[in-house]
Amino acid sequence: MDGKNKEALKEIERLTAKADEVQENILKEILTQNSATEYLIKYMKGSKNMLEFKQSVPVITYKAIRPYIQRIANGEDSSLITSHPITEMIRSSGTSEGKPKFLPSIEEDLDRNMFFISLITPIMNQYVPGVDEGKHMYFFFVNKEISAPCGLPVRTASSRLLQSKHFKRQARDPSNDNNTSPYQAILCSDISQSLYCQILAGLIHRHQVQRLGAAFASILLQVISVLERNWVRFCNDIRTGQLDLMITDLECRSCMSTLLSSPDPCFANEIENICSRASWKGILCQLWPRAKFIETVITGSMAQYIPALEFYSDEKLPLVSNVYASSECFLGVNLKPLCDPSDVAYTLLPNMGYFEFIPLGEDGTMLMNVGEEDDVPNDKLVDLVQVRLGCYYELVVTTFAGLYRYRVGDVLQVIGFHNRAPQFRYICRRNVILSLDTEKTNEEDLQKSINVAKKLLEPYNVLLVDYTSYADASTMPGHYVLYWEILFHGSSKADDQLANIAALDEKMLQECCIAVEEELDFKYRICRTHNKSVGPLEIRVVEPGTFEELMDFFIDQGASINQYKTPRCIKPEGALKLLNSHVKASFFSPRDPKAATPTIVDSTNVYNVIM
Ligand code: AMP
Repeated sequence: MDGKNKEALKEIERLTAKADEVQENILKEILTQNSATEYLIKYMKGSKNMLEFKQSVPVITYKAIRPYIQRIANGEDSSLITSHPITEMIRSSGTSEGKPKFLPSIEEDLDRNMFFISLITPIMNQYVPGVDEGKHMYFFFVNKEISAPCGLPVRTASSRLLQSKHFKRQARDPSNDNNTSPYQAILCSDISQSLYCQILAGLIHRHQVQRLGAAFASILLQVISVLERNWVRFCNDIRTGQLDLMITDLECRSCMSTLLSSPDPCFANEIENICSRASWKGILCQLWPRAKFIETVITGSMAQYIPALEFYSDEKLPLVSNVYASSECFLGVNLKPLCDPSDVAYTLLPNMGYFEFIPLGEDGTMLMNVGEEDDVPNDKLVDLVQVRLGCYYELVVTTFAGLYRYRVGDVLQVIGFHNRAPQFRYICRRNVILSLDTEKTNEEDLQKSINVAKKLLEPYNVLLVDYTSYADASTMPGHYVLYWEILFHGSSKADDQLANIAALDEKMLQECCIAVEEELDFKYRICRTHNKSVGPLEIRVVEPGTFEELMDFFIDQGASINQYKTPRCIKPEGALKLLNSHVKASFFSPRDPKAATPTIVDSTNVYNVIM
């Protein structure tokens, strides 16, 4: 192991061994630097005392900080919340009241995040020696930037990293070209062209690739789906040495032309032989025979993709879920990257921000006793080193960039310690019920969308009796499924109801599908229309009485009839089976939902609309 890797591991040991001291120093530093901000003066009257902070500064959600962020976006000084100049706004995939969240970021956040990223390879090297040799086929994407009214750039945390000077320098250094994707292809904000070129480059380097990955498992499956639909094209490009004319981006064409310098029919035939097999089981190992593992987040909502990844790798490549990060703050790393997917734990790095925790339950019982927007008494929170094994917590962060006691919304369970730093299993995002890619749909969003669609049924004398939903990840791409039980007014006989379902107006239900989609938040619509990572929404109409049977099912499983509420999202397989066995008709959205432009339109007006 080289000196740089050893240093990184030593630093992890130091930070985790002194987690309490590191955390205390972080909070002291934040308070010293930011005590004169309008936000902290309001609660601490200029004090820099940590006890005062804990007693007086409220635990908040995005709603409370949004007005400050909005003022800064409109041109007021960063000193409203931080002593450092805010250099950009980070757009999170989370939403608040259906609108995207924008989080403040300062210059030094980039160094903190680069430090975080620099730990990944040294950790991996302990388990897979020589991991930094050979090539990585890691799919990166950059979203088109928009600007806040004051001119500050607004982008995602990953776009920021990829467009940073540091990354650019690395990417342009010919001695450091260990990623298969050409930098120009990564920077192309037309996702389909970027993806096409990145896959083609990965195929061209197939014999050198040692690790393959993408930020989230859903992205990797999208890669496979594009490959499945386009392998003939890829082979053709390699065979002729000419890039498909569908790629019109000049930068992409220029970087790919160096890779496709001459026709190579032999190599094209090799790939064609593999891709034309009847089953794609294990295709990843066949196309990239030297790959040692797959690097991608497979925890939380991404766990639903594990079976598909296991299928495409024939269970021969370990799935490595190595980072836990958010737009607010990069959070934790997995110190045992080759562990079983069900044992993945993230050790929060105590120097990334100041962490506190809202206790949710004791001894492994998760009591969601604090609502998403409930006031949390200041003295309820516990520090990083005070969390207890087996217990569940909601994460609260305080950052240098102006978030104070901010509820990230993630529910975590302590499953171990590394030195003094706790290791957390990621349980869920509070209240998110459907998520296939980076979109996160909560119960409220879904309900609002259903209410709009429901109105379309009224003129037909049709009533929506009950509904639930399911994120179907078995299709490519995954799509939302709504189970609807509907009632036709004026006819109570079951036979009539069934006959009416059979005669349902397809257009009416298709209109309902699209109405739901157009009411879902902008991130969903981006995934649907721009990223194509979510497919058309489906409504499955079930026969009368199905939801009663569903209730019986849950009561049989131990639910209390007094507390029973139809779950708005179905996870247990038994319940799904039950619902599917009662489906009488199924309808899909006939087109892409409208108004999903914020990431692709470069204008301050757009920013105003989405703020
Ligand atoms: P964003 O702010 O858009 O970057 O989304 C951050 C959120 O994604 C986190 O708060 C988590 O809810 C989720 N997330 C990030 N990393 C992981 C992970 N390793 N496992 C599960 N969920 C994750």
